[in-house]
Amino acid sequence: MKLLVVGGGGREHALVWKLLQSSTITRPIQIFVAPGNAGTALEDGVENIALTAIPELLEFAKNEAVAFTIVGPEAPLVAGIVDAFRAEGLKIFGPTRQAAQLEASKDFSKAFMQRHGIPTAAYATFDSSAEAHQYLDEKGAPIVIKADGLAAGKGVVVAVTLEEAHAAVDAMLVSHQLGNAGARVVIEEFLEGEEVSFIVMADGRHVLPLATSQDHKRLKAGDNGPNTGGMGAYSPAPMITPALHARIMREVIDPAINGMEQEGENYTGFLYAGLMIAPDGGIKVLEFNCRMGDPETEVIMMRLKSCLVSLLEHALNGTLDKVEAEWDRRPALGVVMAAHGYPDSPKKGDVIRGLAELPSMPAKEKDYYVFHAGTTLDEENGKEIVTAGGRVLCVTVLGDSVKMAQRRAYEIAEQIHFDGCQMRRDIGYRAINNRK
Ligand code: ATP
Repeated sequence: MKLLVVGGGGREHALVWKLLQSSTITRPIQIFVAPGNAGTALEDGVENIALTAIPELLEFAKNEAVAFTIVGPEAPLVAGIVDAFRAEGLKIFGPTRQAAQLEASKDFSKAFMQRHGIPTAAYATFDSSAEAHQYLDEKGAPIVIKADGLAAGKGVVVAVTLEEAHAAVDAMLVSHQLGNAGARVVIEEFLEGEEVSFIVMADGRHVLPLATSQDHKRLKAGDNGPNTGGMGAYSPAPMITPALHARIMREVIDPAINGMEQEGENYTGFLYAGLMIAPDGGIKVLEFNCRMGDPETEVIMMRLKSCLVSLLEHALNGTLDKVEAEWDRRPALGVVMAAHGYPDSPKKGDVIRGLAELPSMPAKEKDYYVFHAGTTLDEENGKEIVTAGGRVLCVTVLGDSVKMAQRRAYEIAEQIHFDGCQMRRDIGYRAINNRK
């Protein structure tokens, strides 16, 4: 069986790793990853292909007769890869371009939530700076300013003072610092509480919730410093009790999937809801993403015991209601090792040492894995693995408790070296404090 995975980060390496363990598929399995990274290149049965343009990917998938394609990141989804593949009769797991607007436009997403009664922060949308400034003065701080479009994690300003809020509006609407993405802004009420990620698979009508997870977005210990793509994650999220899980499904996920169906854009793919859980238990949606999170994928895949190919086949056939996912009872925790200068200007080209010396074990017993993100093989230097992006590796471990997983993840991370590596030392601290 041949499969195509689009993307090249830690999320895609984790998906590939899990696909390779699938029990229900015809062997040999061959997975193409576009463009992949050094980690995917080194997996048996995997070949990286240096393609990113949708017409080329489509041609490749046709020529190789891949059984189906899975899309990791949002950019190709928003650019319409699913529409293009489906138009040629190819199977692909992900939302259409229109459904991906849930992530690509904050204004679309907020209006959609209002139409379907999904709880979210009060908001208003502006194209004009004068009106935006006036609105800020009426509402006061703290307040949150969001660029409407995709801005690679740089589009949200949580303004503590009105000065910061006005400056953010000017940066987006007047000096156009985020280009088109910031040509329209959503200004929303500041919410307090604890953030959790809730990710599901959807087949257009039915939903299969994945294991819960929580990530650490800030660069520095104690959840301080600048926002990043994510410096670590753990699963499950102890905050999400069975009762809260049921409410999230009822108040957020079901209305979202039903709402898309009512609007004629049946949602297929992974759907990620970033949620704020208020101290009184109230749920509000901060954002929808039309893909899995990274590094949430790494910890979720580490705990998935079911065959991923089979789950994806059910999703593609519209039969997700006929299947359940089985999860390892043990928690998983992932620590991101990031490049020097991340998130602003990550340094590239540093040799990564220590990976080959880590203890190996058969795939079935594996209770840890080092997923690659921004890495590449330096062919000239005897196939050394070098850094090639902001987040470089995610050391992901299953443990009998979050604390044990954390300890082991750091023991492994200590054996891996590259110049200027940045790593938080406290991943999972909230879960550890919740449950000693
Ligand atoms: P991501 O990089 O996760 O895709 P994004 O750039 O699309 O994020 P959001 O997730 O909407 O933006 O916001 C980024 C972060 O800003 C959130 O994780 C949260 O910490 C904070 N945030 C967003 N909206 C609010 C709000 N209304 N109140 C308080 N904090 C908020």
